[in-house]
Amino acid sequence: MILNTHLVWFRNDLRVTDNPALAAACEDKKADVLALFIATPKQWANHKVSPKQASFIYDNLLILQNSLGELGIPLLYQQCEDFEQSVKMLVKLCQQYKIKSLFYNHQYEFNEQQRDQVVQQKLANKVACYSYQGNLLLPPLTIVNGSKAMYKIFTPFKKALLDKLSAIKPNFCTKPTKRQTIIKPHPVKAFDYPLEDYQNLVAGEQAAMKQLVNFCDKLVVSYGKTRDLPALNSTSKLSAYLTLGVLSPNQCLHILLQHHPLFWHYPQSGAACWFDELIWREFYHNLLVAYPKLIKQKPFIEWTEQIVWRNDKVDFKKWRQGQTGYPIVDAAMQQLHKTGWMHNRLRMIVASFLVKDLLIDWRWGERYFMSQLIDGNLAANNGGWQWAASTGTDAAPYFRIFNPTTQGQRFDPQGDFIRQWLPALKDVPAKYIHTPYIWADKEQQQLDYPKPMLSHQAARKITLAAFEKAKAKE
Ligand SMILES: Cc1cc2nc3c(=O)[nH]c(=O)nc-3n(C[C@H](O)[C@H](O)[C@H](O)COP(=O)(O)OP(=O)(O)OC[C@H]3O[C@@H](n4cnc5c(N)ncnc54)[C@H](O)[C@@H]3O)c2cc1C
Repeated sequence: MILNTHLVWFRNDLRVTDNPALAAACEDKKADVLALFIATPKQWANHKVSPKQASFIYDNLLILQNSLGELGIPLLYQQCEDFEQSVKMLVKLCQQYKIKSLFYNHQYEFNEQQRDQVVQQKLANKVACYSYQGNLLLPPLTIVNGSKAMYKIFTPFKKALLDKLSAIKPNFCTKPTKRQTIIKPHPVKAFDYPLEDYQNLVAGEQAAMKQLVNFCDKLVVSYGKTRDLPALNSTSKLSAYLTLGVLSPNQCLHILLQHHPLFWHYPQSGAACWFDELIWREFYHNLLVAYPKLIKQKPFIEWTEQIVWRNDKVDFKKWRQGQTGYPIVDAAMQQLHKTGWMHNRLRMIVASFLVKDLLIDWRWGERYFMSQLIDGNLAANNGGWQWAASTGTDAAPYFRIFNPTTQGQRFDPQGDFIRQWLPALKDVPAKYIHTPYIWADKEQQQLDYPKPMLSHQAARKITLAAFEKAKAKE
């Protein structure tokens, strides 16, 4: 006999394995369990969700509905404009299906937290709300310093997190067992949002897990040596799965430990180096919670608010279109546009170019990245941009300015990556691949590729002066 009906509200946790909210709802064997996903296209537009990410959400949602169906859990699909409407819709569904308990995994962004507070208020005394931590290794602000404050520097944060994790066994929720239901799922309809094809990714938990296992089995060993070389397939490419919660960081740790059980003890190993990146993810999420000003487009370092940006719209367009004349920057932008993903080293290079060569406000770049990335998420994107712009905590110092030519020579020495994305440069020899205009002049070749839009050395001086002037007002 069914005594209760529980509702699991899926948001950025599109998986059935290691999903604490789902697992908790399913613990009650006598209850009917329903699942819900509410698409909010207007909200997505406000948050600059990219059409590629929207497509990836859609494809993952179809697979999730299927997986839940196999477990006897119907996924109710709804679409409305924004979070405000989604709350009304949720309350109505709770009445319609006589829901007794609502289960969900936390989201830590500002609008999401506000929405969840309103939900709790509206459902108070009618529906019990249970929330869980499912998309980070540890709940935010578990790792704090001696003064009970969030660490501002990555290395001590990492050390404290590793100490904590190695002391506790990571909690891992298995897939719930099959149950019976008579309620029919709602078909997932096309989102009322622009959708765009993405490349090189297969939707779904199984595909994500396969990629994770393959990475931990083969590639992770050499990650420390190869991760900065964009021409190689040397990083995990799991970021989009982690962003949508198709995969959890817990699962990453679990599989990594299966393949490299002692990796904690070998900080120089590829496995430890890769896990450091998951800790950066954790660090940036913790910063958002500890310093809500970061969510409101504010820099971490206050004096950087005083920088007078050039903000030249024509220059911004050249950067966006990959027409800067610096091959490593332009090839990276092509990779972003075609696939929705960009290699981490290249994200650092193009971000540095925008902020420190073009002297364009990092927030322009941050927004543009969100509008294009398949893995776009506020914490990592904001953290990455503030790192590159030297406005963040534990960021690159402001006087460290990447030279786009030498960065290219160092990380794509033969130009293999550049030739892959800029066919106009396919015949340029490796010696000149980062300075093709010199080769074209020397060999009297016509290249369908622009000359550098500016002199890096001159731009560097202007940027240093702008940062120093702002700092002097501190
Ligand atoms: C300017 C800039 C913007 C960025 N924007 C995003 C973003 O919107 N979404 C995003 O997921 N990552 C972002 N990153 C971080 C990083 O570039 C990507 O996570 C990484 O390139 C994804 O590829 P991968 O999965 O192969 O990473 P791997 O090298 O295999 O790393 C494993 C995982 O660790 C996490 N990770 C890796 N590097 C970082 C990092 N520096 N900061 C935080 N988490 C990290 C990701 O979840 C990644 O999937 C940004 C970095 C910069 C410099």
